[in-house]
Amino acid sequence: MTGKLELTFTVVSEYLFVGSGAYEFDPNHNNQRPDVWYTFYRRNGQICVPGTSIKGAIRAIVEAISNSCISQFRRSREKVDKDHEPCRDQNKLCPACRLFGMTGLRGRVHFSDAFPEGQVRPQIVKIGELWEPRNYSGRKFYEVKRVPQLTDKRPQRNFRFVEAMSEGTCFRATLHFENLSEAELGLMAYALGWKTEKGTFDHAFTPKLGGAKPRCFGAVKFDPARLTVWEVQKNGLLQLRMLEGDAVGAKLVRCMEAASRPETGLFHESSWRRLVEGYQEKTDTCPREMY
Ligand SMILES: [Zn+2]
Repeated sequence: MTGKLELTFTVVSEYLFVGSGAYEFDPNHNNQRPDVWYTFYRRNGQICVPGTSIKGAIRAIVEAISNSCISQFRRSREKVDKDHEPCRDQNKLCPACRLFGMTGLRGRVHFSDAFPEGQVRPQIVKIGELWEPRNYSGRKFYEVKRVPQLTDKRPQRNFRFVEAMSEGTCFRATLHFENLSEAELGLMAYALGWKTEKGTFDHAFTPKLGGAKPRCFGAVKFDPARLTVWEVQKNGLLQLRMLEGDAVGAKLVRCMEAASRPETGLFHESSWRRLVEGYQEKTDTCPREMY
């Protein structure tokens, strides 16, 4: 299948922060606002979550739920066991490398940049300095917890300020795919946090995007909006088929069911169950300075 899946994602943790590495500076803050804060990523002056950032987050989930190798980016931060050594042979690729590509091989899935819907109201939020857990091994996924309220805007040691989008903000994005099998699209659907139960479409967990993940930021809920697929007709011609509403969910259910068939070798259910458990929302507050 070749086509696109248009989707929305809504911030469900208190904040989402996707930085650009840039910061703003206000020397005349008079303690009314912070003097330095890290700005949210922008394209043409508009707040935006870059497609590469969504792709990185979803790839990490695909890697975890499909017995794939662990990409270079994550290897530098995590201890990896032998069965997850990176793919080298282009004829023997793991599911994640086949979908997302690897050095010298273009991927077949891409995300567009995602822009927020409606009026956007970014907020400057104070967070503790990022702190890497010491026993950082294996695949670690952050839990969704509450962010402590830090209303004091004065500069303070071991804290920083970030420009963040609040809970409830909705973004629009598009997943473009080329030559995917139904099962491969199903694996993507699982990685976007969806599941199927008794043939119906449902949410299983909320993936995390952006920076400051250890600070209980970045959980988003994906929803499918419209699926457009180029289909080969009996006469050999391509036809565009568009699905909306419940029809998208029904199609994604079929794809997830296809991915679950063991012979596809794509979906690793026990890893997925473990991941879903790790994502379940916790009601306790994020520790202030230490994750
Ligand atoms: Zn691989």
